[in-house]
Amino acid sequence: SPPPAVAEDKILISVEVCLKPSSTARMEDVKLAVERMLENRNLSYVDGPIDIPQDDTFLKENVQRICICDTEERVTNHGILLFWQVKPLVHVFQLSEEGPCEDLDGDSQLSSFSEWMLPAKDFDGMWESLVYESGLKQRLLKYAASALLFTEKGVDPLLVSWNRIILLHGPPGTGKTSLCKALAQKLSIRFSSRYPHSQLVEVNAHSLFSKWFSESGKLVAKLFQKIQEMVEEDNNLVFVLIDEVESLAAARKAALSGSEPSDSIRVVNALLTQMDKLKSSPNVIILTTSNITAAIDIAFVDRADIKAYVGPPTLQARYEILRSCLQELLRTGILSTSQDDDDELILPNYASLKDKLASATPQGSEYHLNIWKHLMEAAEACEGLSGRSLRKLPFLAHANGECDDLTKFLQTMISTINRERSEIPD
Ligand code: ADP
Repeated sequence: SPPPAVAEDKILISVEVCLKPSSTARMEDVKLAVERMLENRNLSYVDGPIDIPQDDTFLKENVQRICICDTEERVTNHGILLFWQVKPLVHVFQLSEEGPCEDLDGDSQLSSFSEWMLPAKDFDGMWESLVYESGLKQRLLKYAASALLFTEKGVDPLLVSWNRIILLHGPPGTGKTSLCKALAQKLSIRFSSRYPHSQLVEVNAHSLFSKWFSESGKLVAKLFQKIQEMVEEDNNLVFVLIDEVESLAAARKAALSGSEPSDSIRVVNALLTQMDKLKSSPNVIILTTSNITAAIDIAFVDRADIKAYVGPPTLQARYEILRSCLQELLRTGILSTSQDDDDELILPNYASLKDKLASATPQGSEYHLNIWKHLMEAAEACEGLSGRSLRKLPFLAHANGECDDLTKFLQTMISTINRERSEIPD
């Protein structure tokens, strides 16, 4: 085997350790225990969960799961990182089980914002469930990490300028909002030693200036007073999510042209001014999404450092999304295969399926090959559908026809796809 690498050559790999809800162990103790466990674990590193050794009673008692993250971009050695190439960075966290805390307006019962303590149970697994062309998620994570680092190290913004505003834009249903939430969750885990507390505030811009709010101005004031309080606490990392920011610009334009009540312009302007003020706080990250790709005329986003286009899923992403859906239906027993020994059928990922189909000698039984091919055919057929539509397909297909067997189900799914596509307006 190759000689151990010198320390500075080591590749940093994140290891996320989720505590059980019942655990009261100190995070620092768990971190040490996991580091010790990893030192003795002379295995390869790939993304995904790893087992806790049976005899490690401390970890068994306190830890729900341990996951290796971010290896995919770094693979060198035939897709495998070996233990001596790696320096694990262990992040211990406990999920907050509280759902969103919504601020409801007295009479209308519309909420102007929702607030989560991070990392939240609601967003657990979201990052992993989102599939994009390689690099997008890592790029976002790295950008945000650099922005936080610059702040933490006190880089003078007059000498080097950067901001903590992220804009994700692209067609509806491509997972932009989910990606913002998942990113906030990831950062809250990765930065927990600097910021032990994190919150996500989702501003419902639509309802903020909807006609039901005669007192929207007060709501904006209340909202920002709340955010300001969070931000003043130096140990808090605060994420503010504003969906569909273009609606703010549109409302302002409409108000100027007189087609919108003048109340709403005050609210929009108040919101924009507050956001502008907020962006100078070091422990705030502003996350915004937009369904339009044209420039958005809003002061606080037009200079966003991090603008990423989030497009419709590629073939590989479509395949992976459908695969994860089917795997879930197999897990829950809604789908099965007609073969008795297939209890724990694992559908191959895109790369390994390509290998299987390209291989001269058939890999797997005729029956399985047939399933793989149908699955690939389904992924090809749904070009143009959004990620959101893809995640609904298996449900629609199930409601549409015979589906106790996986092969039949895939056929139903392909006809469902063709029907869905014919219903997309051009
Ligand atoms: P947007 O904000 O772009 O309209 P959402 O975040 O509301 O999209 O996405 C809706 C749902 O669609 C997500 O929760 C997710 O389940 C699914 N989805 C969309 N794009 C993807 C993707 N690229 N990979 C996996 N799931 C996706």
